[in-house]
Amino acid sequence: MKGLAGIFQEAGKEILVEEIDVPELEEGSVLIRNMGGAVCGSDLHGWRGDNDKPMRKKRFVGGHECAGVVDRLTGGISTDSMGRPLEEGDRVVFPFFFPCQRCYQCSHGEMHACTYRGHPRMRGDSWEDYPYCDGGFAQYYKLPRNHWIFKAPEEIPDSAMVTANCSLTQVAWALHQAKLRFGDTVVVQGAGGLGIYACAIAADSGASQVIAIDGQDARLSLASRCGASSTIDMKEFPTPQSRVERVMELTRGVGADVVVEVVGVAAAALEGLDMVRAGGRYVDVGNISGGSYELPGSKVILNQTQWIGIMHYNPWILDAAVNWLVRVKDKYPLFDLVSHTFPLTRINEAFETAEWVGKEGGSSATRVVVQPWA
Ligand SMILES: [Zn+2]
Ligand SMILES: [Zn+2]
Repeated sequence: MKGLAGIFQEAGKEILVEEIDVPELEEGSVLIRNMGGAVCGSDLHGWRGDNDKPMRKKRFVGGHECAGVVDRLTGGISTDSMGRPLEEGDRVVFPFFFPCQRCYQCSHGEMHACTYRGHPRMRGDSWEDYPYCDGGFAQYYKLPRNHWIFKAPEEIPDSAMVTANCSLTQVAWALHQAKLRFGDTVVVQGAGGLGIYACAIAADSGASQVIAIDGQDARLSLASRCGASSTIDMKEFPTPQSRVERVMELTRGVGADVVVEVVGVAAAALEGLDMVRAGGRYVDVGNISGGSYELPGSKVILNQTQWIGIMHYNPWILDAAVNWLVRVKDKYPLFDLVSHTFPLTRINEAFETAEWVGKEGGSSATRVVVQPWA
């Protein structure tokens, strides 16, 4: 059995679309017919070559933000991870990383902090296993044995399902880890896919203020419709200092209770630290490969900033997040988050459209989705 997949070569080179094998299914695994792969910031980092990890220097099937339809169930699986009946043909969402369930952190129920020791793969994109058709930019995606899988609510369109397992749930987890409380003031640095979801979740959780920062009009406008009470346009406030001053002005000189970084550049983290109130929380989500920065230790300590690094999440929150999405579907236009779709054969155009570095103003992409069956 074969399927089409987008093959990443070295950074800067064309993404190839080739037909490759679908991986063998061991008992208990699930084969997904993938309905779409979104271009996430971390995919862009790899595509640009922002990081130079060895895994980025060989061919692999990219993509992780995806969802699909159950193509084949094995091992007598008859329910999803919440005990609901599950059949072939059902639309499902699933975490894009595979906690080993055999390590210290997993044993403590901290699947987000799994070290993946002794486990063949952390993610579905086949950095290790290529050539198999199993990344987010491929027609098929394999869930290993004992992986979490959740039936998607009928009300959610396919495009919103695709963005659920990374951008939506990643920020839901970030705000959960930041212990967001009723009345908190929240700053969201970056109003792309993650930022828009962060604004809506913060607003719907009872934040008294949600301040979104971005340089692109379309994103700021969507942020305003999705819960942001104020926006800071980087064209109007071009320097870090001017943006910090604006946050201070909006929070009456106090600073924000919670600042969420979803930009993916190191400079944003340093800027954001100055926006946190004394004793507040800084949540760094986007900087997974945005480069290193020197943490100003004294500043963090004197301000008593709780600095929280975020990667992955505990699987339950993915199901909670899609159910939340159903409840707020008429309140925030979150189904408009996907701004562009491309068939897999035009994946290179999809990446060029999603690229935001060097772009200012005008219409811009919030989320670009590649459709492997279009
Ligand atoms: Zn992602
Ligand atoms: Zn583990």
